[in-house]
Amino acid sequence: MAKRSRDEYECRDKKTALQKESIEAALLICATQFGYETLKEEQKRAVVSFVEGNDVFVTLPTGFGKSFCYFCLPLLFDILYNKTSWSVALVVSPLNALMSDQVQLLKSKGISAVICGYGDKEENKSLVSGGTFQIVFTPPEILFDKEWTEVFRSSSLHDRLVAFIVDEAHCVKKWGKDFRKDYSKLGGLRGLLPSGVHFMALTATASNFTRNEVIRSLGMTKPVMIIRSPDKPNLYYSVMEKTESIEDTFKPVIEELRKLRHNTKKTIIFCRTYQDCCDLYLTFRSSLGVEFTNPIGAPDYSIFRMVEMFTAVNTPSLKQSILASFSNPRGHMRIVIATVAFGMGIDCAGVRRIIHWGAPSDVDCYIQETGRAGRDGDRAFADLYYSKRDIGVTFMEDCMKNYCTNRSMCRRESLFQSFQSYSPLQKPIGCLCCDLCAIVCECSFCKF
Ligand SMILES: [Zn+2]
Ligand SMILES: [Zn+2]
Repeated sequence: MAKRSRDEYECRDKKTALQKESIEAALLICATQFGYETLKEEQKRAVVSFVEGNDVFVTLPTGFGKSFCYFCLPLLFDILYNKTSWSVALVVSPLNALMSDQVQLLKSKGISAVICGYGDKEENKSLVSGGTFQIVFTPPEILFDKEWTEVFRSSSLHDRLVAFIVDEAHCVKKWGKDFRKDYSKLGGLRGLLPSGVHFMALTATASNFTRNEVIRSLGMTKPVMIIRSPDKPNLYYSVMEKTESIEDTFKPVIEELRKLRHNTKKTIIFCRTYQDCCDLYLTFRSSLGVEFTNPIGAPDYSIFRMVEMFTAVNTPSLKQSILASFSNPRGHMRIVIATVAFGMGIDCAGVRRIIHWGAPSDVDCYIQETGRAGRDGDRAFADLYYSKRDIGVTFMEDCMKNYCTNRSMCRRESLFQSFQSYSPLQKPIGCLCCDLCAIVCECSFCKF
C-alpha cells in the first residue's frame, strides 16, 4: 500500500479547506454504496460536522440509521482527500454480538472490517496494525490489553486513522465506574492518538446527565450535539407490580399464543437474570404443552418453537437460527426471552411488544430496550413488571423508581422529563400514550 504524502497528514489536521458542498457530494457517494437514496438531516449534520474537524455526540433512536454516521467515514475521507491508501476508523463497542452483526453488514457493503479479541493470532494483529481494515472494532478492554498495545500504537495504523468512535456511549457512564472500568480510560487515549483524530460518541438514549458524564469522561472538546428525542410516539407504556405468580401474570400472553399462534405479537421479554429467563421459558413450555411448537405437535426443534431463550448459554449456531427465525415475518417464533446483555443483540424489524420482567436500574437502558419495538412506526407496547425488591436496590436511579411507582404523572413524561430534546406537545393522546393517561382518556372510544 502506498505511503501517504505529507499533504495528507496536514489535510487531516486542518480540514478548513473543505467546502460543505464537496463534503455533501462525497457523502452522497457513500450513501449510495450503503443503499440509501437520501440521508436524514441528522445523519448529514453528524458526518459533516465531524469531517469539518469537530468532536461529535450523536443521540439518535434505534433504527434511525445511527451507525451510518461512522460506517461511512473511512470511505468519505478517502474520497475527500483522494487517498491512495485507505482510511481507518477505530470503533469501541461493548458487545461481540453487536460487532459481528456490524462486520457482516459492512462486508456486504464492500467495506473491510474486523473485530479485535483475546487470543487473536499474531497474523491478525499485524493486519490490524498495518491498516488493512477500514473499520476496526474493539471492546474497550482490548485497547488496554498488553498484547495489543503495540498494535494500537503502530504508526501505519495511526497514519490511516481518521476517527475514534465510541458506539453505545452510554456504557461509559453505566459501566465506567465498576463493571467495565476500561470504559473510564478511553478519554486518556486522546494523548496517544494523532492530534487530528476526533471522537464521535453515539448512543440511542442519553439523558442530559448521562450525556454530560460521557462528554467529560471522553474528554470531548465542545462536541457538536446531534440529538433527536428518543421518544417514539407509537409506543404505549404500562407498568404493573409483580403480585401474582409467573403463570398468572403471563396468562394473557399464553392465551394469545394459543389463539393467535404465529400471529401473536412479536415480543422480546427482558429478564434481569439467567434464572428468570429459565423460569419464564419453562412456564411457557409447561403451560402450552403440545401447543408450544407450531404447527401444533410439530417436533421440538428451535425452528418450530414459538418461544425461545436467548442467553449466554446458547451456542453461536443456535443464536443465529433464533435471530433468523425471529426476523422472518412468517417465522414460527413469536417470543424471545433474553437476558438484558444478550437482548441488545436482537435488532429485528416487526417487534410489537417489549416486556420487562423486573425493572432495569436506569432510564437510558429502559428507553433503549423498549426502543426495539415498533421500529416501523406502527403501534407497539412496552410493559414493565417490577417488584418492591427491584426498586429497593441502591443503584436504582430515582427517575426509574418514580417511573415504576408514580400513579398520577404520565409515564411518558416521567420517563423523558430529563431529556432536553423531549417535547410533551408531540405526545400521543390519552389511551394511545400510557396506562395512566388511558385511565383519564376522554376520546370517543373510551367515553362510550
Ligand atoms: Zn401518558
Ligand atoms: Zn381513549
